[in-house]
Amino acid sequence: MSSDEQTISEATIDRVVENIMGGKKNVILDATILSTLMSCARLADFRFNHNFMSVNGKSNSLECGSIVHTFLEYMYKAQIAGLKREQAIQLGFAAAETYIRGCKHCTDFVPTEILREDGLKSTLSKPVCGHKPNEFPGVKNTPKDPDPQNPREKYKTGWQWVLDTCDQYTIHYRNDHWVPLEIEVVKGQILYEDDEVRVLWKSKLDMVSDTNQGIYPVDHKSMKQNRDTVSLNNQFMGQCSIQRTNRMFLNKVGFQKTLKPEEKFVRPAVNYTTARLMEWQSETLPFYAKLLLMYAETGHYPPNYTHCEGKYGNCAFLKVCEENPDNRESTIKQMFIVGPPWNPTNDEDED
Ligand SMILES: [Zn+2]
Repeated sequence: MSSDEQTISEATIDRVVENIMGGKKNVILDATILSTLMSCARLADFRFNHNFMSVNGKSNSLECGSIVHTFLEYMYKAQIAGLKREQAIQLGFAAAETYIRGCKHCTDFVPTEILREDGLKSTLSKPVCGHKPNEFPGVKNTPKDPDPQNPREKYKTGWQWVLDTCDQYTIHYRNDHWVPLEIEVVKGQILYEDDEVRVLWKSKLDMVSDTNQGIYPVDHKSMKQNRDTVSLNNQFMGQCSIQRTNRMFLNKVGFQKTLKPEEKFVRPAVNYTTARLMEWQSETLPFYAKLLLMYAETGHYPPNYTHCEGKYGNCAFLKVCEENPDNRESTIKQMFIVGPPWNPTNDEDED
């Protein structure tokens, strides 16, 4: 790693903006924060300054995506550690099942002071299970098998089908020629600097793989419906910039019951010219970093009414914004809880 590269554990906008020597501002951005800023500043304020989380948990599609992510993370990590294929697959399933069931030790874990036998106090800073805090929260909106008679369940994906899909994935890729090199790493790097601002970009890489065409970032995408991939994507451009490549791959995992394995397990490449990546780094990043600084300085995060309805349904905060300004705080208290500070390792990208 060169001196301008570092791995950092977490950030929120409060910590994102800090003064460095000479009055220059440090801004830490990741794809989720930048894309939210591009969508709606008020939403960015709710999510990353106030850390509001829905009391109802993640959506069904996010939960199903997290189960697949957990499966692939543990399977590929075991493979890198040198375990046999069958053992690695078993570890993947064990982790996916723990994600579904939930682990009470690491869910909502907060460091606590404990009284030791010798009478001294010490701080329990990590969950006893050895997991990362909130790594295995359990599913709230994903039944085992959705009831087709229940209008609230019939469009959901069930977790049994998600596990079956993981099984089909391992069969489809039983002779996989991709060699995983790194799994679930967060990397940070200064991607822009001028007299006013320095932008530290943080990128979560699901996998870095040696394909037979070279070493590239890979992003796992689970989906119910296949859509064309749009390359105007902060996450993908950030991953290419961090890895200094002009190409990344999507590892698509489809939940469609009617498709054949070769149709629902596909790995399309997303390609960029150097000119496009440079435009993103040297024009798009500083523009939004400076916009964020202005929002933070004025404390005013304006709403964007064109983002209230989305292709996955309405914004979680729609009812809040539809209230009178005086009533918004009480509406928020009914619908949201204050969650942990934003961290780019969270799987919250809906796309
Ligand atoms: Zn745990």
